[in-house]
Amino acid sequence: MSGGSSDNKPPTRLVTGGRRKEWTGAVVNPPVWRASTHLYDTVADLRARKSSNEDGQFFYGRRGSPTQWALAEALTEMEPGACGTMLFPSGVAAIACALLAVLRPGDVLLMADSSYDPTRSYAEAFLKKWGVETRYYDPLVGAGISDLICEKTRAIMMESPGSLTFEVQDVPAICAVAKERGITTLLDNTWAAAHFFRAIEQGVDIAILAGTKYIVGHSDVMLGSVTTHEKYWARVRRTAQQLGQVVSPDDAYLALRGLRTLDVRMRQHEAGGLKVARWLAEQPQVARILHPALPDCPGHEVWQRDFSGAAGLFSFVMDGGGEEAVAAFVDNLALFGIGYSWGGYESLALPVDPTPDRTATRWQAEGPVIRLNIGLEDPDDLIADLAKGLERYEKAACRR
Ligand SMILES: *Cc1c(COP(=O)(O)O)cnc(C)c1O
Repeated sequence: MSGGSSDNKPPTRLVTGGRRKEWTGAVVNPPVWRASTHLYDTVADLRARKSSNEDGQFFYGRRGSPTQWALAEALTEMEPGACGTMLFPSGVAAIACALLAVLRPGDVLLMADSSYDPTRSYAEAFLKKWGVETRYYDPLVGAGISDLICEKTRAIMMESPGSLTFEVQDVPAICAVAKERGITTLLDNTWAAAHFFRAIEQGVDIAILAGTKYIVGHSDVMLGSVTTHEKYWARVRRTAQQLGQVVSPDDAYLALRGLRTLDVRMRQHEAGGLKVARWLAEQPQVARILHPALPDCPGHEVWQRDFSGAAGLFSFVMDGGGEEAVAAFVDNLALFGIGYSWGGYESLALPVDPTPDRTATRWQAEGPVIRLNIGLEDPDDLIADLAKGLERYEKAACRR
């Protein structure tokens, strides 16, 4: 085993990535290296190590050990054209660091209006105080982003599909414009988990994942990652190190274990999600399905062009009804938990409200929105559970 070749197909790379013999030893997975202090043989050895700063070089706990290096290398191998990956203790920490690494006081940041709520809060609360102005754009803007760029525009923060409402952005078109104007592009690629959308290959400079979701896949670890093109690698690495960002070896181990089965899990999430979404689309209580692989979803054609699959996370809009009806539906589902996060093996249902976070666009819908994380259960069982939920909804909503 030598770590595999980047010419291999994605599922193969998920299996071989980061499995260097010097890190794994005689076993399949790199052991959990718990360490702060790394010991040197001699003073000369200590001095020599200080000058190199790369994964694979023992130095000090904050620079990681084979457990973290293997995960970082495996994540880099998922993004052809990428130079390296930094790990973070959460997805939000990854987003915060990536933006800090490229922005300076006085800059303008363009951000998709459908961005993950904490990304927006970070811009409004932290970046603003730090002298960076954030302007929001319609996620369907595509090449039209050109009109929103001014002299101070330094970076574009994309998220595709958008959180809660799943608009698929024309990432290649936005990146092409940005490249021409010398602007940095960042993408929150969590939904596709890097597996169904190759961000760096599509022109993105900095690709961010909340590994907490599909990479870990078992709802038991918080993790973030930033994978960059060569041009941004040194800057992102330096910033992350200056901020003292580290991931524990135990968490890195679990994430790496999750990563090995990402392809089969995502294919299953995709199939289950589509079966449930198509069934919901036919129910009279449902007005619309916001699933990138279904035609009602804004940007569906872009998804068809750019993605190689669909995750198991989507939303649907109810036809009328209010908060009480939503609670009647969600509260008594047997197989869906009520909770944040997603990407785990278990299904979740979450009432969401896209309205308050929008400034560049307006959210208009026929009724409340519910987001589903379709886990690995048999979709027929999930459908039977949802069918009972819709009956409760119907009763509580008195739609007719
Ligand atoms: C969950 C999530 C994050 C943040 O990840 P955490 O690990 O929870 O901090 C970022 N972006 C998206 C799209 C997410 O869904």
